[in-house]
Amino acid sequence: MTVSVVLFTSDLRLHDNPVLSAAVREADQVVPLFVDDDGVRAAGFDAPNRRAFLADCLADLDAGLRRRGGHLVVRTGDVVAEVCALVTSVGAERVHLAGGVSRYAARREERLRAALDGIGCALSVHDAVVTALAPGAVTPAGSDHYTVFTPYLRRWTAAGVREVAATPRTISVPEVAPGTLPRRPGPDDVSPGVMRGGETAGRQRLRQWLSDEVAAYEDGHDDLAGDATSRLSPFLHFGALSAAELVHLARREGSTGAQAFVRQLAWRDFHHQVLAARPRAAHEDYRPRGDRWRTDEREVTAWRQGRTGYPLVDAAMRQLAHEGWMHNRGRMLVASFLTKTLYTDWRIGARHFLELLVDGDLANNQLNWQWVAGTGTDTRPNRVLNPVAQGRRFDPQGAYVTRWVPELAGVERKFIHEPWKMEPADRARLDYPEPIVDLAEGRARFEQARGA
Ligand code: FAD
Repeated sequence: MTVSVVLFTSDLRLHDNPVLSAAVREADQVVPLFVDDDGVRAAGFDAPNRRAFLADCLADLDAGLRRRGGHLVVRTGDVVAEVCALVTSVGAERVHLAGGVSRYAARREERLRAALDGIGCALSVHDAVVTALAPGAVTPAGSDHYTVFTPYLRRWTAAGVREVAATPRTISVPEVAPGTLPRRPGPDDVSPGVMRGGETAGRQRLRQWLSDEVAAYEDGHDDLAGDATSRLSPFLHFGALSAAELVHLARREGSTGAQAFVRQLAWRDFHHQVLAARPRAAHEDYRPRGDRWRTDEREVTAWRQGRTGYPLVDAAMRQLAHEGWMHNRGRMLVASFLTKTLYTDWRIGARHFLELLVDGDLANNQLNWQWVAGTGTDTRPNRVLNPVAQGRRFDPQGAYVTRWVPELAGVERKFIHEPWKMEPADRARLDYPEPIVDLAEGRARFEQARGA
């Protein structure tokens, strides 16, 4: 009787999971294990909104395993110690794991390999589980990763995505105590509008997205009020959905919207391959620009609270606080506002995002922040987004603004993105702050600092 352990990390799913499929194929019995890892908590990565989504994912994974005759095994503690204890108790010969891209994931793999080696157990690390294409699967001549998206996309598209892995019909788990599933944090700790997690919810959303919505994605993806993006990012972050399967399904759908959606999935892979090659880019400038960032606590607080006096910035920040999620156009604008108009260190913004985002992801968050700040892979590092112009273009009726900043609901549409231009008497009746910074001054300060 052979036994394998599947260590679930960022792949909390039964469908298209090469880690689980390989274990079920190779061994007579499988232990599906999740370790509530002290190391992840110590790294401060365990924010309540993501904790809630994670609890949903694990409960759903357990239910799916039970329908197949097995169950999830949960342990809490140091991941290496817990895996080794379980391997010894069930006599497992192999542990299967998805390859990760962060420094933490690399270190975890290294420690696991050494510890398992010491107790005569093998480790199989599977590629292209977290991403559609494995990081490093395509590289430019003379480098270990792509630094520019367009050539990466060309190679990524030509490379093709691996076949979808079979979903196990039955899973036989040896006699082992299941442990306790993590509880969802209470409502006081979680943003009120956080999505429910889990593979089942993710697949429902995916079906609806592909059948009714993706076709309109290319035209609608920047319409802030239309909210016409997939909202699949948290499911992808936790691996409740597989990026590779999504690429196959979207390509089969075939519309121009679906093609545009696949390009966004390539962006996700792009950032992952950058972080895999340069793990320090999670915290250090990928391309240092000699910035001497300002620190003005009052401005940063206003930004965090959605009280900058710029309606579109404030709307997006309040969406983040309420839903633990923000539209991509909003993310770009608030990040540009913080790093360029206020000239504040991108790490301050990235940390705030990670405290709230339900899809908060080291590769996507840190490298998108760097992209916007101009310290990352953007080929136009000094571009600045203007919140008024962005508002006119992507929220022309102000419907997104008034959804999230209700105190502006009665404002005439022509003033919705610049309420400071209203008659002083009308302006005085609004409980809404004056702009915390003059846009032209902010821009001049930034351009001078960058020598742009
Ligand atoms: P869709 O538009 O439906 O796109 C489909 C999928 O493609 C997304 O779910 C996501 O996995 C991927 N994707 C889309 N845009 C990007 C992008 N620019 N970079 C990488 N992948 C992308 N995304 C995260 O998943 N986690 C983060 O922590 C995160 N932080 C961000 C921080 C900033 C400052 C910026 C500008 C962007 C950030 N993004 C992050 C990328 C993007 O904003 C979100 O992935 C997207 O808004 C999620 O919504 P959606 O699922 O409806 O996206």
